[in-house]
Amino acid sequence: MTKAASAAAKDFAAAGVGGVHLAWADNNGIPRSRIVPIAGLADAASRGVGATSLFAVFDSHDAITYGHAGLATPSGDVRLVPVVERLRRLAGQPALAWAPVRQLTRSGDPWPYCQRAVLEAQVAEAARRGLEFRAGYELEFAVAPAGSADVVSAPGHPGPAYSPHALVGLDGFVAALLHDFAANGLRIGQLHAEYGVAQVELSLAATDPVAAADDQLLARQTIHAAAHAHGLVVSFAPLVGLGSAGNGWHLHTSVRRKGRNLLDDNGTGVPDGDGAAYLAGLLRDLPALTAITAPSVPSTLRLRPGFFAGAYAFWGVENREAPLRYVPGSPLLGADHANVELKTSDASANPYLALAVVLAAGMAGIEDAAALPEPIAEDPGGWTEGERETRGVRRLPADTAGQDAALTASPRVAGVLGDDLLGAFRAVRASDAAWAADRTADEIVAAHLWRY
Ligand code: GLU
Ligand code: MG
Repeated sequence: MTKAASAAAKDFAAAGVGGVHLAWADNNGIPRSRIVPIAGLADAASRGVGATSLFAVFDSHDAITYGHAGLATPSGDVRLVPVVERLRRLAGQPALAWAPVRQLTRSGDPWPYCQRAVLEAQVAEAARRGLEFRAGYELEFAVAPAGSADVVSAPGHPGPAYSPHALVGLDGFVAALLHDFAANGLRIGQLHAEYGVAQVELSLAATDPVAAADDQLLARQTIHAAAHAHGLVVSFAPLVGLGSAGNGWHLHTSVRRKGRNLLDDNGTGVPDGDGAAYLAGLLRDLPALTAITAPSVPSTLRLRPGFFAGAYAFWGVENREAPLRYVPGSPLLGADHANVELKTSDASANPYLALAVVLAAGMAGIEDAAALPEPIAEDPGGWTEGERETRGVRRLPADTAGQDAALTASPRVAGVLGDDLLGAFRAVRASDAAWAADRTADEIVAAHLWRY
């Protein structure tokens, strides 16, 4: 790998690249990085660069919590080792390249707090079971002129939603996104003006889970840079205003055995067999999954009924209000198209952890042949409490304490992180909740706008 790093460094240096962002995401979904000069890339690839182990206990506001016994002092160091196969020159920041990192101990062993390693372990487990996953993110974000204090008072496009002319004023930005994504090796499925205030959405083509998480981080860097170059700023926060649609980062997954997509509906409109059990596994653990995939205080504010974000635990076929939206294949689209969309997912999730718990819960569903209830076509938010009770549809946890209880109730999900990382993750959530306790919802939204 060092040889590959040396060769890449030489090529990049000749092309004018001065340094490489070594990037990861913390337990708040906030990307962090260290830049090494291009001449230091090979050394970084073999020995890593040092960073404090306390990044595992940074909260969403850059405060360090000492609430987790394993990381309760300022002492400790980890090594950040770039994954050279994923090294890319940044099209929108041509003097820089980018690579995701593995977090290792000083002796070069896997560090138990490395979120990427947690996902790699689930992918390896899937391979042992003869399963192969594909995953892809949809990214919603809001645009504002650079320097704006918020999005609602300075929307970067006027709407209407889904309108081509809404984006005319953002022509240069859109062109840069299309160019830079392709140049950075990221495939956009589609891009449009979304429903929320100054909202834009783009979807990434499905790939293997670790690449999907890496790509999600690279996509953020790519969007931020394109926005900056065009006098804009973007917010990936779960909410940019209390009255408006939130920014969901919906996570699409499908699972294959021997090349066959288990989620194919075979023309019936609903999955069966292992595909149904996969979806049932996600539904069974949805409250605990959501504690990882939409874990921040603003995440819980986003998950309201009526906003297509998923407030109640249920599944539906192409139901936009369902947190688990089954997307069937068809003769036109092919069996390969079938997938499940998780809507209770946003930018405040660590993408590696989000995918790791989804894979684990889905695999457990298959293992247990979990039973899938009937799909729901309506919005249970419009039902009475009694109707929801009768149909067994529960509200997803709406605060940090509820999410934490859901994690406790699901060793299947909590166990994926391992005791050390789970302890750090919980400490961070508790630190965020304590920060939010005496603040208004507006203050909470404002404080997270530019964090991701
Ligand atoms: N903006 C919605 C959310 O908060 C999703 C809208 C859609 O279905 O694309 O997730
Ligand atoms: Mg959308």
